Amino acid sequence: MVYLEVFVLARSFAQLARNAEKNKASIVVDKTPLESPPLEIHTLGDETLRKPARRIGKVDESIREIIRDMLRSMYSAKGIGLAAPQVGIHTQLLVIDTDLETPSTPPLVLINPEIIASGASLETYEEGCLSIPGVYLNVVRPSEIKLSYRDEMGRPRKMNADGLVARCIQHELDHLNGVLFVDRVTDKAELTRELNEHGFHENDVRGIDR
Ligand SMILES: [Zn+2]
Repeated sequence: MVYLEVFVLARSFAQLARNAEKNKASIVVDKTPLESPPLEIHTLGDETLRKPARRIGKVDESIREIIRDMLRSMYSAKGIGLAAPQVGIHTQLLVIDTDLETPSTPPLVLINPEIIASGASLETYEEGCLSIPGVYLNVVRPSEIKLSYRDEMGRPRKMNADGLVARCIQHELDHLNGVLFVDRVTDKAELTRELNEHGFHENDVRGIDR
């Protein structure tokens, strides 16, 4: 009887270990910046940033290879989020990591992300973007969101987010629709000043269809 229990216990531990292995983030890359990152990040004024992204069908190894390249490029640019259209790939794919200092913290990979609910409370927060380097401006967005997406293994998932992660997800999700954070800035005088100061043009900012 005792032996049987030990055996059953051992088997369930093995099962647990297998499940943990299966659920483990399967994409981990070195966060150290590279001198020549694999992908080029397009900047404001480049039409490629305005093209909407297609949904991803099958999540396979070729998608995971793009994810790894995107992560390496994001870490090299010291960014906390990157959307595929920023590197000229028009698919619904985002990578996010708000903890660049801890090598072991896994990134968040969002495939075909969709906001299924937004909290009523709004928050003003200063945003920046790897596609508009040097420019930081206040943007108002919901402070909490509920999201559905697929992970890097293609598994359907849901999550709630608030704080910096919610902010980052909403910013990156805009990229999938060809929207940039400067399109959402309400202080136009400040927007003009910041863009001019960093060598960008107001003409490349677009209105938001609400
Ligand atoms: Zn951005």
